[in-house]
Amino acid sequence: TFDTLMIGGGPAGAAAAVYAARKGIRTGVAAERFGGQVLDTMAIENLISVPHTEGPKLAAALEEHVKEYEVDIMNLQRAVKLLPGRPGEEHEVQFESGASLKAKTLVLATGARWREMGVPGEADYRNKGVAYCPHCDGPLFKGKHVAVIGGGNSGVEAAIDLAGIVGHVTLIEFMDEMRADAVLQKKLRSLPNVDIVLGARTTEVNGDGKRVTGLTYEERASGEIRQIDLQGVFVQIGLVPNTEWLKESPIELSERGEIVVDARGMTSVPGIFAAGDVTTVPYKQIVIAMGEGSKAALGAFDHLIRS
Ligand code: FAD
Repeated sequence: TFDTLMIGGGPAGAAAAVYAARKGIRTGVAAERFGGQVLDTMAIENLISVPHTEGPKLAAALEEHVKEYEVDIMNLQRAVKLLPGRPGEEHEVQFESGASLKAKTLVLATGARWREMGVPGEADYRNKGVAYCPHCDGPLFKGKHVAVIGGGNSGVEAAIDLAGIVGHVTLIEFMDEMRADAVLQKKLRSLPNVDIVLGARTTEVNGDGKRVTGLTYEERASGEIRQIDLQGVFVQIGLVPNTEWLKESPIELSERGEIVVDARGMTSVPGIFAAGDVTTVPYKQIVIAMGEGSKAALGAFDHLIRS
């Protein structure tokens, strides 16, 4: 059994493991895929003090850093059930493999995933013009024409943000109106280099084999097919937290399924902490996940020495 067990091995879980292990407590990390979302990207230019790195390189560095310490890394382990212990008892996590692990404290860091459109070309041009994170990839499209898919708060925020960097933004919304807050919509409409297409179903991301060259959509009212030439597509139709496995547990989740945490990263169950993209903490970024993971591990240590 562990003093602290991290579920998830992305930036949050890895940071938590380093912080916990440095306290000399029995530390483990169980992850479905050590490295997390970082493995799905190439250029990373906003991890402060590292001006440029690449996803697979950062994932390897995370693992190398964790391995500097006595940490049990259990990779390819998908958690399917959480059985919280009563106060003073250990918590149990069950895995798809049939294995189960016990720990005095847990840090849940199972991350999130971007909802995809699921249209032809989207997967082919991922990181070659198709992007999901304006904070990460916006500057790569300086002066270019990009589309933002989705007129919810995140889509409209992304479009406003990108309009200050890129040449032109076309926002495409499936419904006949945007769902974003009125103040955001007003701001968006005031920008000179933005146009908004409502009632449009994106049907394909076009490319030349190397990069995105355009986007095809259907005008839902008329059924007419239209094509726009552009160099980037930002998909903003939702970030889904990986909390399906917690739905039957007593851990409090927000309306969007994110784990609710307090200032020390503790969940609604004492001794169970959470960090990174899986939580309600806003702005899902690597540097934030690392900070939150460190904080949750310190919170867990604090909990251990008091109980
Ligand atoms: P994740 O990285 O999602 O890691 C979650 C971990 O939990 C993984 O190990 C996963 O396998 C595991 N897991 C999930 N479910 C289970 C389960 N049931 N049981 C066990 N393990 C499980 N951020 C930046 O700051 N800069 C960038 O340039 C940048 N670019 C990005 C590009 C792309 C394409 C994507 C997708 C994201 C990008 N991000 C970027 C966002 C960044 O990757 C995330 O904010 C960060 O990885 C979150 O870390 P995390 O540890 O909370 O979660």
